[in-house]
Amino acid sequence: MRASCLCGDVVWEGSGPGELVHHCHCGICRKISGTAFTTMGGVPASSFRFVRGGDGIRRFRSSPGSERCFCGRCGSTVPGEAFGDTVFVPFGNVEGDPGGRPVAHIFVASKAPWYELPDDGLPRFDAYPPGYADPELFPAEPRGGSDGRVGGSCLCGAIAYELEKPVDAWHNCHCSRCRRGRGGAHASNLFLDARRFRLLRGGDAIDSFKVPEAERFTQSFCRTCGGKAPRINVQAGYAAVPAGSLDDDPGARPERHIYVASKAPWFEIADRLPQFSAFIDS
Ligand SMILES: [Zn+2]
Ligand SMILES: [Zn+2]
Ligand SMILES: [Zn+2]
Repeated sequence: MRASCLCGDVVWEGSGPGELVHHCHCGICRKISGTAFTTMGGVPASSFRFVRGGDGIRRFRSSPGSERCFCGRCGSTVPGEAFGDTVFVPFGNVEGDPGGRPVAHIFVASKAPWYELPDDGLPRFDAYPPGYADPELFPAEPRGGSDGRVGGSCLCGAIAYELEKPVDAWHNCHCSRCRRGRGGAHASNLFLDARRFRLLRGGDAIDSFKVPEAERFTQSFCRTCGGKAPRINVQAGYAAVPAGSLDDDPGARPERHIYVASKAPWFEIADRLPQFSAFIDS
């Protein structure tokens, strides 16, 4: 199994196919991926190594026993320290089909209020599956937003924003850049008129990486925690917000899957949202 971050600086490998592959809905995973859940798979710690780029990794201690690691240049999630004999790697970054398939949803008690679990037949656990250490829950705790404002922030809190409803569009994007950047099955981004988006703090905490060969594909992230951050497209006049960074329920829900022709082989789309092979086409 071989994988790399979005910019290619960090490359790692381990022996496949990936054990205990799971979708994690905890609040930490949502913030670091910018999506509804991360998908992580285990490789034996003895087989894991960074092929290159290990020096460029930044670390953020998300809870007393857990460290979240990301590429300092592009913000992609990269593997952290071993969990016993296993290193959990973000499946969105793995090249090709490692063979392993998701076996469970975990931390569903913390799931995003805007995300409905699909009928995919996988077992669901409120926190860790039985047999694992007591979890430190990081619940969604959707707040009011009664005045029509919806807040969001990165994991460490350096970046905070608010937006005013309504949301104009919401895509789950399965392209390979989104999967590598987010480290998961797909990105989940909502879009709205930039005049209804306001950065409250942390403008100087945001780092951005633009894929050199792309017209505009850019990933923005907090340089301290690696949490995915909103971007303003000044020319087009809209804000693109990674849904996993939301703290409030925006009322709207994801509307469609795009670029499903590039979907990860290990991920089945089990909901009923419309699917488009590339951008919104036929
Ligand atoms: Zn990178
Ligand atoms: Zn998690
Ligand atoms: Zn942060």
